[in-house]
Amino acid sequence: MKRYFGLLFLMAILVASLGASAQADTLRVATEAGFMPFEFVDPDTNQLVGFDMDLIRAIGEVLEMDVTIANVNWDGLIPGLLNNHYDVIIAGMTITEERAESVLFSTPYFESVQTVVIRQDTEDIAALEDLAGKIAAVQISTTGDFAAEDVPGIRSIARFNTVSEAMQAVINRAAHAAVVDLPVAEAYLAANPSAPLRHLGPAAENEFYGIAGRRQNPELMERINEALAQLRADGTYDAIHETWFGAQE
Ligand code: GLN
Repeated sequence: MKRYFGLLFLMAILVASLGASAQADTLRVATEAGFMPFEFVDPDTNQLVGFDMDLIRAIGEVLEMDVTIANVNWDGLIPGLLNNHYDVIIAGMTITEERAESVLFSTPYFESVQTVVIRQDTEDIAALEDLAGKIAAVQISTTGDFAAEDVPGIRSIARFNTVSEAMQAVINRAAHAAVVDLPVAEAYLAANPSAPLRHLGPAAENEFYGIAGRRQNPELMERINEALAQLRADGTYDAIHETWFGAQE
C-alpha cells in the first residue's frame, strides 16, 4: 500500500512538472484582429496574419516557445492581460504613459502616427484642429480617441469597438471624420478601393508601438526585448517589414 502511494506521489509530481514546463514553453498572446496590416483574419485561411503576427511568431521562435494567439476586443486586451489570461499583448498598441502605469512595454517596435480620414468630398477639414464643431469617429480608448478628445471645440466623439465601424460611420455621414493610425488607414483604403474616403497624412506627433506584458513579469519582457534586438540585427525584422509594407526607402 505504502509503495502504491509512493508511486502515485511520483506520478503526481511528474504530471505537475510536465504541466509547468508546458506552461513555460508557451507564449500566450492576445491581439485585436481588426487592425490591418498589423493583425487581421486572412479570409482565405481564417488564420491571424499581419506584421505583428509575424513578429510575435518570430519572437516565439527565438525564445523557443510555442505561440498561441487569442483574438480579443480592443478594450478587453489590458484587463485580460492583468487577469493573467495571456502573457503579452501585440496589437499595434501605442506606448503611452497612462498605459505604462498598468502594463510593462517592450522597447518600441514600430513608429506610427495618427491621421484623419474624411470623405473624398469633404473640403473643410485639412487638419486635426479642423474637427472643431465636428463629429469624430474613433475606435474606443485608442490614441485616435485621445487625439480627438484633445481637439478644442470638437462637437462629439462617436466611439466604436473597431476601426472598420469608425470608417463606416464616415462613409455613412454619421461622423465627419475618423481619427486612426495612418498605416491602418492606408491599408483600409487599399483594401476598400470603392470607399469614398481619403486621409490627411500625418496629423499628430509620432507614436511608437510596444508589446505589453505584466509588470510582475519583467524577466519575460527582458527576453522579448533581447529577441527583438536579435530579429533587428539578423534581418528578420526588415523581412517582415518588407512583407507588409514593401521595401524600405
Ligand atoms: N495605436 C493605437 C492605440 O494604441 C490603436 C491601436 C489599435 O486599435 N489596435 O491606441
